[in-house]
Amino acid sequence: MPIPPLYGHEGIRSRLVGAIASGRLPQGLLLEGPRGVGKQRLGLWLAQTLLCRGRGEAKEQRTGEPCGQCQACKLVTSLSHPDVHWFVPVELSKKGADADKQLDLVAEALADEMTARREQPLYEPPSGLASHGIASVRLLLRRLALTPALGQHKVFIVGDAERLVPQIGAEAAANALLKALEEPPADTVIVLTTSEPDALLPTMLSRVVRVRLARNADSIVAVFAQRELGLKSEREVAQRVAAADGCIGKLLASGRPGRGPEAADAFRATATQGAVQRFAFALSQAPFQARGGFTEMLDGLLERLRDQARRGGETGKVVEAIARVLDARELAQGNVNPQLLAAVLADQLAELA
Ligand SMILES: [Zn+2]
Repeated sequence: MPIPPLYGHEGIRSRLVGAIASGRLPQGLLLEGPRGVGKQRLGLWLAQTLLCRGRGEAKEQRTGEPCGQCQACKLVTSLSHPDVHWFVPVELSKKGADADKQLDLVAEALADEMTARREQPLYEPPSGLASHGIASVRLLLRRLALTPALGQHKVFIVGDAERLVPQIGAEAAANALLKALEEPPADTVIVLTTSEPDALLPTMLSRVVRVRLARNADSIVAVFAQRELGLKSEREVAQRVAAADGCIGKLLASGRPGRGPEAADAFRATATQGAVQRFAFALSQAPFQARGGFTEMLDGLLERLRDQARRGGETGKVVEAIARVLDARELAQGNVNPQLLAAVLADQLAELA
């Protein structure tokens, strides 16, 4: 399934198209703006614009925007173009493997993520502990050195770039990345995206051209809701558009009931109830999807507990509860059955409540 089309951001799009036409597109870009505003989607659109081969056939088509019809366009929007390298934060389940093995694991995790996004193009934000670790940086450097497989360009999109974490002992790779940002190979454009530009290293910020994405108008978000999500009820559209606050990503997230924070609250509520309710709740967890919804629920739980710890009170118990949730989280990454984990965790939290 292709990803939904890009909505909004017309001003930036026409500036980018103009920059490409005049050969002045910066090779290192940082797209910044609120979470869910469409930064990575814009990065993919830019890749499509650079790689599109359908233009120039008829004069009236020469708008500079991608045609959407040619093979390159279709490959980009189905996340299969070999010259588009989309790096998203990943969480590796096997730690401690040697460097080469780590690199394979990252490549595998990224490929899995892209497969998931092809099947369900309205993807979810990465979990709180996912990052661009040193293996991701090494993989990126390796791919930078490749010649384009199909087109004239390679495009790298690095989502949530604030999660590029410098690591001790990996200075060489970190420096190589800085150098690549400063002077990428001639055929390469690197697009970083972030909702927290202040969390990026100054050495990185100084090497990219910063482009700020503003929130979309509600009217644009509403059209997306109707056309792409097929929402019919005017009231539902109005409510969800208002909650989205100009960010289509937020609009998408609001359509998934029972995930993240809401599920965490439901879980905490059962922890104060009897054993039967706890067991019923555990059984309601999907058995085979440990990495998705269940991990998200645990993240929501961690957030609540951390808030509680900040407010003070029975800090010892809260710290203990956080430790239990982190244990469960690690086991979930190792693909232990979420029903079992939920049952054990609910009992542990009930004891601490
Ligand atoms: Zn095209």
